[in-house]
Amino acid sequence: MLCTMTLLAAEASPARRDRDMRNPHAGEPFDTSDEQIAGALLDVSIPTLMLSLVHMSGDPELIRGRLKPAGLFLNEVQGYMTEEDKEEARGMALETIRHYRDGGCPEPEPISAELLHEMMAWLVCEDVPAEYVPMLMEEMGLDGSDARRLGAPGDEAAREAFPVVVIGCGQSGLLAGVRLKEAGIPFTIVEKNAGVGGTWWENSYPGARVDVGNHFYCYSFEPSDGWTEYFARQPELQAYFESVMTKHGIERHVRWETEVVGAAWDEGTATWSVRVRTKGGGQETLVARAVISAVGQLNRPHIPEIPGAGTFAGPAFHSARWDHAVDLTGKRVAMIGAGASGFQIAPTIAGDVEHLTVFQRTAQWMFPNPNYHAAVGPGVQWALRHLPFYGRWYRFLILWPGCDKGLAAARVDPDYPDQQRAVSELNELTRQMFTDWIVSQVGDDPDLIAKVIPDYPATGKRTLQDNGSWLRMLTRDNVDLVRTAIDHIETDAIVTVDGERHPADVIVYATGFHANRVLWPMEITGRDGVDLRSMWGERPAAYLGITVPGFPNLFCMYGPGTNLAHGGSLIFHSECQMRYIAQCLDELVVGGHRSMEPRQAKYEEWHDRSQREIKKLVWSQPSVKHSFFKNAHGEIHILSPWRLVDYWSWTKEPDLADFVVR
Ligand code: NAP
Repeated sequence: MLCTMTLLAAEASPARRDRDMRNPHAGEPFDTSDEQIAGALLDVSIPTLMLSLVHMSGDPELIRGRLKPAGLFLNEVQGYMTEEDKEEARGMALETIRHYRDGGCPEPEPISAELLHEMMAWLVCEDVPAEYVPMLMEEMGLDGSDARRLGAPGDEAAREAFPVVVIGCGQSGLLAGVRLKEAGIPFTIVEKNAGVGGTWWENSYPGARVDVGNHFYCYSFEPSDGWTEYFARQPELQAYFESVMTKHGIERHVRWETEVVGAAWDEGTATWSVRVRTKGGGQETLVARAVISAVGQLNRPHIPEIPGAGTFAGPAFHSARWDHAVDLTGKRVAMIGAGASGFQIAPTIAGDVEHLTVFQRTAQWMFPNPNYHAAVGPGVQWALRHLPFYGRWYRFLILWPGCDKGLAAARVDPDYPDQQRAVSELNELTRQMFTDWIVSQVGDDPDLIAKVIPDYPATGKRTLQDNGSWLRMLTRDNVDLVRTAIDHIETDAIVTVDGERHPADVIVYATGFHANRVLWPMEITGRDGVDLRSMWGERPAAYLGITVPGFPNLFCMYGPGTNLAHGGSLIFHSECQMRYIAQCLDELVVGGHRSMEPRQAKYEEWHDRSQREIKKLVWSQPSVKHSFFKNAHGEIHILSPWRLVDYWSWTKEPDLADFVVR
């Protein structure tokens, strides 16, 4: 494995030189003054900086001495180095960077695969198993290549005869567009909204921000050195997707404010007829040889049916349909639901409203993240822009702690005694850590502590992040946390089952999405008129989360069984899926085939295996009573139980033996 990578590194370098191109990750040359460099170094992640120095100097001894990170924790990017050690590292860095600058910022020579592996392990203070190295190398693209980009299949006429419709222009649909354009395959993206971003277009509620570090939560081939916060807010995320769309010239392929209502496969012509509702309400049909569904799992708002809800006199809206015309200042606001969305909304609005009542059915586990609202300083932005491979190593640094370790804490030890409390020894330790954080924030209010400590195992639902803002918000005088069930709603109040009236001028439903109704409400009809949703019933499935037998040339991104609750990022998953899909399309175009679909046995085996696996994980446990991961039968069909490295390797290349190709 390592030998292959040495070869790759060796091969990439002359090719780059031939093209006379600077590796895009080598940083832009600069003439920044010594003082400014010294200032920038005060901000940066020192362990990441030290790896950049190895590239600049070509000297691995820089990381073989006394100065090294002491440990790793998610979002802790200084590796627990002492202030003295960091200061010493900065001094060494200033000297190396000055030399590099004065030499004209030459593009660093490629580094051997063995040294890169050593650098990985050094940065994260543990062995990085060899099976992960190719995936990480690809994710970082240190040689400046984009291994997930594919060439154009077949000749132009063959490609022109293979139009593709992509449903949705969120992060996955936009990625599909970028890759299809690179492959020279004609495509149309149909998007129900008026702009790009999907989730990051629709969720404009106060406080909306991502909770995967942005220097990882972005396309591997489109890093940004301009993030203003480590966990960017919605406008900045939407602007990022807008910029990628513009840079790659995707906009002219998009039909905005047009919604796919259904699609039907015609075996005679081997085409999909995709029915759309246009902006003006008209109906149209687009004909395609293949369809890529990129509709996401979390965009059809769920509002529970609560008696009397229709009688409420004030404004009432869902978190993903925020009504910006409603001024909450001085209002009594009731927020029903407190999952990931509510966790962000409540702390943001609590200071403006007269009173906030938070109705939370189930307490949520959260882990401490002091950087959650932190700004990216100008020094870090300078380093990302100029220091060779700083951004690439930083990406790896925040990726690694969320790379399959969450699965270990989620795995059920059937012999662990108190399954309501924890599912394993490790899960119990996680519980302790999370509990300590919660208690440290709430102080000595036993009533509040009783309300905010969950009664199910840690990480049993989607774990949230807190920098103190949620728990601080709950201690405000103008905030009440209600854990009693709601009975009904009246014109100006919410009444709980204990008979208490909670007056409200505005209701915010932060009650989540119809996550289990996959591809709903579209009507997808496959071979012999089979309706996809009827076939699935409550158990949606797709081989590798991507293809379904009887539905030829239909490919899902972020399909059933691919949501992530244990780490990683959906953008990483989308890149795996799109590479796989692009290779399938390549096969269809080059081979002149009519269609491909997975073998029934393969599909069933995958689903059975995934179901067996997910039942061994905490999310499936009966102790977790309410969770959008579960369907009405308590089964989970939308989440991935698999390690990122496994999913990456399974989707790296389609095995044609898995398919019926006609
Ligand atoms: P959610 O996690 O499904 O939370 C919905 C909330 O509404 C929960 O508190 C739930 O209570 C409550 N609820 C639902 N039905 C109810 C009912 N009938 N009666 C009382 N309460 C009810 O939805 P979300 O907060 O919108 O988040 C959904 C997903 O979107 C997240 O898991 C995440 O994947 C994504 N998201 C991410 C971010 C981010 O990146 N920072 C932000 C927002 C959303 P129970 O807990 O008891 O079910």
